Amino acid sequence: MQSDNALTKRSLARHCRALAGGEYTSLELTRAYLEEIERKEPTVKAFLTLDADRALQAARESDQRRAQGMTRSELDGIPYAVKDNFCTKGLRTTCASRMLENYVPCYHASVVERLEAAGCILLGKLNMDEFAMGSSNETSAFGAARNPHDTAYVAGGSSGGSAAAVAAYEVPFSIGSDTGGSVRQPAAFCGVMGLKPTYGTISRYGMIALAPSLDCVGILAHNAEDTAIVFSALVGKDGKDATVCEYPKHPVQIMPMQGRGLRVAVVRELLDDKEVSADVIRAVTDAAQKLRDMGAMTEDISLPSPEQALAAYCILSAAEASSNMARFDGVHYGKRSTEAQNLTALYANSRAEGFGSEVKRRILFGSYMLSEHTRPLYYDRAVEARRIIRESLLDTLSRYDLILTPTAPTAAFRSGTSLTAAQRRRADLCAVYASLAGAPAVSIPFGKTAQGLPLAIQLTAAPFAEDKLLSAARMLELEAVSN
Ligand code: GLN
Repeated sequence: MQSDNALTKRSLARHCRALAGGEYTSLELTRAYLEEIERKEPTVKAFLTLDADRALQAARESDQRRAQGMTRSELDGIPYAVKDNFCTKGLRTTCASRMLENYVPCYHASVVERLEAAGCILLGKLNMDEFAMGSSNETSAFGAARNPHDTAYVAGGSSGGSAAAVAAYEVPFSIGSDTGGSVRQPAAFCGVMGLKPTYGTISRYGMIALAPSLDCVGILAHNAEDTAIVFSALVGKDGKDATVCEYPKHPVQIMPMQGRGLRVAVVRELLDDKEVSADVIRAVTDAAQKLRDMGAMTEDISLPSPEQALAAYCILSAAEASSNMARFDGVHYGKRSTEAQNLTALYANSRAEGFGSEVKRRILFGSYMLSEHTRPLYYDRAVEARRIIRESLLDTLSRYDLILTPTAPTAAFRSGTSLTAAQRRRADLCAVYASLAGAPAVSIPFGKTAQGLPLAIQLTAAPFAEDKLLSAARMLELEAVSN
């Protein structure tokens, strides 16, 4: 989708330089994005809540800081938006669910707090699949975000609003969450870059959990440089989330990279899989060829079956989700039914009214996986499968710099396509390896389908090798443009 406003088409890095050089102010920039939002939102529906007045005020304050030489960081004055599963103080946070329709947190998620401390301007909250469960945004209780390239197509999910907002030039970058592909797959569908970093590098405090052993904060932006800037602003220890470590290489620098000497593994199973479309296979083989042209060595390798990886992911994520969803019962948290005659009915009705069908399906499935008799058969075996997949991926990454795969088996599909839950889960086929291994992975736009929908490829690197990952992404994005 074209931007009508030249300012909003510029990259984040370009904005940082322009604000520093006094070319335009944060107020002008924020207004430009708000105008773009007003133009695009009737069709794109990326936002669930807009916070225009507060954003304009924050932009004025940023300009004042700059005038007084008190700029907080290079990001001071840059607008952004965040997926609606991150708590924002005083601003409705719904997880796209009726259950949290009127929830206004009294604190910021650590990510929001860090971006605020850096001087960023929060424009609003972005659409998503309900409680981050889904791959098309269509489980949102408030209507799905649409693909800005063609609004008859889905934006992907669950961070569909985060991807659509960047693709529609409504924000220069956005924040999403990625448990099993929820940043990378919508980024691929909408033609933007999507990074799922190494597990435990960005605080999850205040991000409403789906499956905590897999959940990662992710970044969506137009290019690798912008992604690296935001990533560097977010990494690092947080006293409020014990799973976060000190990032070893801070800030993350992306270097002009030479293809020569780079060893890239191409996962054979994902190119032979009959579910992977011809367009997607072409994008991956083109990318492999480009890498070889630049001097890299590519080799076909084999990983444990994608089917097993997907099964393990489905079981583990649903098991953890079923436990996380227990708190939303109308008493501890969430919508309380007004229809109940007794306590049991109060719990039952609140959950029946508050949750959509995908959330209910996962609560039932996840609880079943954890129940006494089924746990050894499914959950325990999924834990073991995860260990094997993780070891195999990390072993591959000790021998190769990068793993090249599709991000998703197909380009965006038409919204309203009647797919079964199992078919929808296929959208995660290529994304779940990195999630199960805790490794960083990035989706890079790479070509288009005949109808003009974006195609993408995915690179995965060893834990904490985001510098290598984003440097390679930069190399490929330049190739994709010169194509
Ligand atoms: N599509 C996946 C799912 O529905 C991914 C979810 C996520 O990463 N939040 O489980």
